[in-house]
Amino acid sequence: MEPKPEKLIPYGRQLIEQDDVDAVVRVMNSDALTQGPEVNAFENELAETVGARYVVCVSSGTAALHLACVVAGVRPGAMGITSPITFVASANAIRYAGGHPRFADVDPTTGLVSEGAIRALALSSERPQVIIPVDFAGTPADLPRIGRTAESLGALVIEDAAHALGARYRAADGHWVKAASCTHSAMAILSFHPVKHITSGEGGAITTNDRGLYEALVRLRNHGVTKDPSRLRRHDPEPWYYEQQSLGWNYRMSDLHAALGRSQLRKLSRFVERRRQIAATYDQAFRSLAGFIKPLVIPEGRESAYHLYPVSLVRRPCESLGELSQRRRELYMSLLEDGVQTQVHYIPVPRQPDFERLGFCDAVPGADAYYAGVLSLPIFPAMSDADVSRVVAAVGRATESFMVAA
Ligand SMILES: *Cc1c(COP(=O)(O)O)cnc(C)c1O
Repeated sequence: MEPKPEKLIPYGRQLIEQDDVDAVVRVMNSDALTQGPEVNAFENELAETVGARYVVCVSSGTAALHLACVVAGVRPGAMGITSPITFVASANAIRYAGGHPRFADVDPTTGLVSEGAIRALALSSERPQVIIPVDFAGTPADLPRIGRTAESLGALVIEDAAHALGARYRAADGHWVKAASCTHSAMAILSFHPVKHITSGEGGAITTNDRGLYEALVRLRNHGVTKDPSRLRRHDPEPWYYEQQSLGWNYRMSDLHAALGRSQLRKLSRFVERRRQIAATYDQAFRSLAGFIKPLVIPEGRESAYHLYPVSLVRRPCESLGELSQRRRELYMSLLEDGVQTQVHYIPVPRQPDFERLGFCDAVPGADAYYAGVLSLPIFPAMSDADVSRVVAAVGRATESFMVAA
């Protein structure tokens, strides 16, 4: 008899339960569909969760990055530094605002942008207006040191925390602080895309402790329009009066999306806990494969929220990056044949044709080396223990072939 074909395990997916569905349906039967009371409540609950004073919800994490760059003063001619190992949105945001991105290299063992590389890049070129470190895979970047460097350069830090809701790191004084709390940044951004920790379908948010930035973000999310009588430039007595004070966008989140986001936010600690369990099982299982694959290193003083679980193939003596990348492709194909869908996070952004075309193609050898050997294994809260065991077994089988070939 043919063995029953098993379902492909994706690298990530959302977990939607009946109460999430009910929350959205309730809003569909209410008066407000677009931005309304659900968005306000979601913002307050997010502020409480991450420990930031203000939260502005928007239509996506990308919109959040764009608005954050605009209010941080990125204008045509301005430069912004980000990581090459990230989703393209982190760099595109600088471009939307008219600026040009530069890429500071990562540490290939952590995938995190290096504070030393940021400083060296800034000192060897022009002053950056913004620095956008990425909490890659759910591990906070070295925010205390990056924050100090930014301050000395007169740049603002926008923490890209799209991977890091629920993560923590230690401040210089030893205290644990939460990702996106803006303890060491002017603003942080979150994404509620379905592969992230919690989803609102599409959605994002900016967090900040700065009232001026908060008010500007609120205005720009809605066309740059305000109705607040204390802010109006013209004192028109008409009750319907409103004013566009600068060019903004329609980046509002709808109440339907916010209702889903709120329902999911209540499950955040359960979701993060499950991700940590899966990561711990992988860590344990792959210890015996340490000569072949290595999990991402999580530096001291960081607590990852495990958005991703990347493993890197251990490079053989004298192996070229091309050969390494070829073996990574074999691992990818072998896992796929075993019903395990993996993904690569990320192709270095400066290697994208559109970035090369415009000359945004900084040398990032750490990112190139990291990229050549990395693969993200499935990790998501709906994964069963049996799924985790299947992945472990499939990785074991795939690496056996390397042992034979070695
Ligand atoms: C998902 C993601 C974004 C963009 O978020 P969207 O909500 O998809 O627009 C930005 N940065 C990083 C690192 C991400 O993973």
